[in-house]
Amino acid sequence: MTEQQTRNGMSLQERAFWRQLTEDYDNYLRLMSLRNPMAVKFGLKSCQRCGQCCLRFCTPRPDEIEPIASYLKLSVDELIGKYMVIDTPDCKTFFLRWAKHGEEDITGGRIPPLRTYDRGYCILFDEKSRSCMIHPVRPHEARYVRCWKSGNGSDRNEWGISAWGERDIFKFISDFDPYVFAQSRATETNRVPSNSI
Ligand code: SF4
Ligand code: SF4
Repeated sequence: MTEQQTRNGMSLQERAFWRQLTEDYDNYLRLMSLRNPMAVKFGLKSCQRCGQCCLRFCTPRPDEIEPIASYLKLSVDELIGKYMVIDTPDCKTFFLRWAKHGEEDITGGRIPPLRTYDRGYCILFDEKSRSCMIHPVRPHEARYVRCWKSGNGSDRNEWGISAWGERDIFKFISDFDPYVFAQSRATETNRVPSNSI
């Protein structure tokens, strides 16, 4: 393999597979944006809580997790066990993010790689009231995203994931084993996507 092929530990075939999954998911989000009353579509400059942002999810920074647990009157372990999954962009840095509705079966654990692209809202989005269950203490990333701003959400320094270092996951899950996760992600790339549009 060339250096190019092994970057991020992925072969060219694996990268093509994940690129396809990402494109499928982005197409799904574009389709949903046609259905949602986004502020930007009406020239409005205040959030209409249409929920489009919460179809993807925001990622909390490590230091935002404890205050959110406190707001929900949960311990950090309870918060993780009830609402969060472990994910990674590269099998080197792991982070905790909100599960989706429909991913309740895997909260508290590692998300099976193909389910990174599960459809549906963030588990903390209440579809009836169209609002975030933790709105007063929502992560910085959710405050930063505004659909009417040019370059909306494109500054990666503002993303919650940018605050996660390689050792941060161990502050929350001391016995976490990144090797097992890397192996499962590699084997998943040989499978066919299960929930395309
Ligand atoms: S900022 Fe997000 S939730 Fe608010 S109106 Fe725009 S797309 Fe909808
Ligand atoms: S935590 Fe709240 S703002 Fe962030 S994606 Fe979930 S429902 Fe939306």
